[in-house]
Amino acid sequence: MVTELDLSCDICFEPYYSTSVGSEDRRPTVVCTNGHTCCFRCAGRISTCFSCRRPCLDTPIVNVALIGIVDSKARLYLLRYNGWL
Ligand SMILES: [Zn+2]
Ligand SMILES: [Zn+2]
Repeated sequence: MVTELDLSCDICFEPYYSTSVGSEDRRPTVVCTNGHTCCFRCAGRISTCFSCRRPCLDTPIVNVALIGIVDSKARLYLLRYNGWL
């Protein structure tokens, strides 16, 4: 059995998306200089890091590497869903 990566926000526990869906922007976003990541929506609501309590970055950085993983996982899911894998 393949171990699933936990690709969800540490604050709201919702799964990350690779694109913003309507007003729900749940792209993985780096919030502090230690690289801690939560979703874009939560990143806009906190001023100190949820994990290490450092002050948040002035401009949160969307975690492109993690989006790639979210994307490939979504693609794999689609392939399985359609019976192609
Ligand atoms: Zn969140
Ligand atoms: Zn942090």
